[in-house]
Amino acid sequence: MLGGRSGRAAGAVLGSAVGDALGAPFEFGPPGAFSARFPQHGPAGVPAGASEMCGGGGWEPGEATDDTQQAVHLAESLLERGGLDLPDVFDRLRRWAAADPKDIGIQTEQVLTGDLPWDLAAGIHFQSTLRAAGNGSLMRATTSAVRFARLDRAGTMDAARRIAALTHGDRAAWEGTAVFHALVRAALAGEDPLAELPAALAEVHPEHRERYAVVLDAGWHPDRATEFNGAVWPCLGSALWALRSTGSFEQALRAAVDLGGDTDTVAAVTGGLAGAVYGLDAVPARWREPLHVPLPGGGGRVLRAGDLLVLARRLDRP
Ligand code: MG
Ligand code: MG
Repeated sequence: MLGGRSGRAAGAVLGSAVGDALGAPFEFGPPGAFSARFPQHGPAGVPAGASEMCGGGGWEPGEATDDTQQAVHLAESLLERGGLDLPDVFDRLRRWAAADPKDIGIQTEQVLTGDLPWDLAAGIHFQSTLRAAGNGSLMRATTSAVRFARLDRAGTMDAARRIAALTHGDRAAWEGTAVFHALVRAALAGEDPLAELPAALAEVHPEHRERYAVVLDAGWHPDRATEFNGAVWPCLGSALWALRSTGSFEQALRAAVDLGGDTDTVAAVTGGLAGAVYGLDAVPARWREPLHVPLPGGGGRVLRAGDLLVLARRLDRP
């Protein structure tokens, strides 16, 4: 049992990693694939000898992907540097990208494998492509959201933008990541993240506010997305929809993976939020047990759930 704020911080970090691993085998698949395979909610719905952490598509059962790998590198930078050291975060992500991770987003890869310095790489990439509103900065944001949750709303949103800008030149990605930080902050404080939405939206850059207001509205449904959910707006909107339309951590993650498309990332974002709301005890042991995070660029380490708990505790420390 780990309750209170530390339970919610641990729930966020573990929840995001669990969502990533749960969704990975279903990435780019059709809607409904998860519940077609596991029709019933809960352990009773899983056939004997099987697990919802089923692996596939190149992933071992319980193996977390680039989303969690980046989140861990980001967390270790924040802790070892004693704060936000942007060149250090960039260096670590660059070493990770160079160590041949099994998966990496196109945008993130192009920026991290170029030879431009940390403060120019993403901006120059965006100027030449005009495409940088993927969910790649949002997918790794749970650890930084926990670390900066003791700042005020504007402070944690600003930190989110600066980290997002390391790989994403499009302000849309910064703003979505900033909203996520604000929602996690509220949840860790024991508040309802949905009640936080208006205040978070008010802090969003005016040119981006309306688009986020649409996808974060209570009446929005992932069916109404105008882009693939690998884009930052429907990814965040879908995560919030999964949280709002279900009543438990497990159900939220099932709903997220069942959307199809970029399932690992939508579930990682959902898991970060839902874990912050429901706490560690709501993250099923049968999902935590097989979880593992191989860490390219991290000296050959493979983190397990216990390692992520230690990380969460240090991130949550004032
Ligand atoms: Mg991934
Ligand atoms: Mg993905």
